[in-house]
Amino acid sequence: MKIIQTIEELQEIRKSISSSVGFVPTMGALHDGHISLIKQARSENDIVIVSIFVNPTQFLKGEDLDKYPKKIEADSKICELCKVNYLFLPQISTMYGEDEVLVKAPNIKSYTLEGERRPGHFDGVLQVVLKLFGLTKPNRAYFGKKDAQQLALIKQMVENLFLGIDIIECEIKRESDGLALSSRNVYLTAEQRSDALAISKSLHAAAAIIGKKEFDCHVIKEHMQTIMSQLDVEYIAFVNRQFEEIQTIELKNSIILVAVKVGNTRLIDNIWI
Ligand code: AMP
Repeated sequence: MKIIQTIEELQEIRKSISSSVGFVPTMGALHDGHISLIKQARSENDIVIVSIFVNPTQFLKGEDLDKYPKKIEADSKICELCKVNYLFLPQISTMYGEDEVLVKAPNIKSYTLEGERRPGHFDGVLQVVLKLFGLTKPNRAYFGKKDAQQLALIKQMVENLFLGIDIIECEIKRESDGLALSSRNVYLTAEQRSDALAISKSLHAAAAIIGKKEFDCHVIKEHMQTIMSQLDVEYIAFVNRQFEEIQTIELKNSIILVAVKVGNTRLIDNIWI
């Protein structure tokens, strides 16, 4: 595995590759969720590029940019073991100049849910992903369903800007007790972690009652609220795969999303129905 830190080197290497490229963008502190994306990329492409970049433009003032977990040595070992070909580790100054062309996420999809709580977040996400796509020019890029709204917006960007990249949606990886893996889980105390299990429990309970043909989102939401009554729930939302709000579950076309604050840590999770 080769570690790349400059734009010039990455562009030079990319020019020399004529076979298929799979790209996995991350912010590091890699866990089994990231690893599953990398493994899928490994199995479907000749060359795999992973990036680790904690992108400042997607963090709002007061968020955890400065304390976002960093584990570069362990991460590069993981990438090496997963047979990644190139690990791109840029600095902020490598990725951004001054007074740049900005990317603007579409209003409806990006100022609801995560975007309502974190205004401008998705502009920053799309900006950095577009830059990374421009550098890596992947055939396929791998994203987790865990960040469902981000995934929907990236797919729309690829479509709207005619980028011609296959966006591969990867399943959510969970701990054996159901907690969705997240780099932010390290912030949780043992007690908070145990409280946080109510999130995945509520999603699984939702799936179970949908299995019994309860499709009314209002009823499902009440059920979920009861399970998460001890938590500071920011939202429970029901959307279709185009990310439009729904009142009734449509099988194979719905996503139930949850955002919760546990102490100072924001956790998101969802289930695709
Ligand atoms: P991040 O490092 O948090 O920006 O995440 C990088 C990629 O990993 C994104 O596409 C995430 O959706 C994905 N990801 C994060 N957590 C998980 C998870 N538990 N299961 C699957 N994919 C995940």
